[in-house]
Amino acid sequence: MPLRIPICAFDAKTGILCAKCQAKLSAGQISNSDIIVSKVLVKLAESTPELNKMALLRSYEVEGSYVMEMEQADAGLIRSKPEIKQKVEDMLKGKVWVIGTSNSDRQFLEELFYPIRILTVNTVWLPDGSKLTKVIIPGKRPERLRGEIEALKKVVKQVKGIELLVESEREATLRL
Ligand SMILES: [Zn+2]
Repeated sequence: MPLRIPICAFDAKTGILCAKCQAKLSAGQISNSDIIVSKVLVKLAESTPELNKMALLRSYEVEGSYVMEMEQADAGLIRSKPEIKQKVEDMLKGKVWVIGTSNSDRQFLEELFYPIRILTVNTVWLPDGSKLTKVIIPGKRPERLRGEIEALKKVVKQVKGIELLVESEREATLRL
């Protein structure tokens, strides 16, 4: 089975959208990042046969980084082969997160944060009635992850509309 992507394989190869895909783009059914990532995956599939069985469901671009939403099994496979993700990152010239399609916010967060482990996910209500989702990750010194966590917060906000607060175990304990 060939690689499945949100646009026609032919369009991804030539870089020119057919009328049908152009209409989907105009209607907002597909995004510019769907097109960018599809092109890269089609190109990469020529030298990476594993990709040919996979399906890119959709993708998001967040400040030069990309989220690829794939079938659950495909996301697992890419996680087990970091060299594939690395190649996609090189070609996109940005960081890439691979997530499986899921209905649960917790699962979405766990896959997005991987390999950072998530200990707990809580909802925090603010006095003004808005809510935050608080994620607690292990460790005492999250400083080295700060850049990545700031990027993850932006991704979560854009993809799921969730306002995220990330604390380390140590910070969470101090607050009690
Ligand atoms: Zn097309």
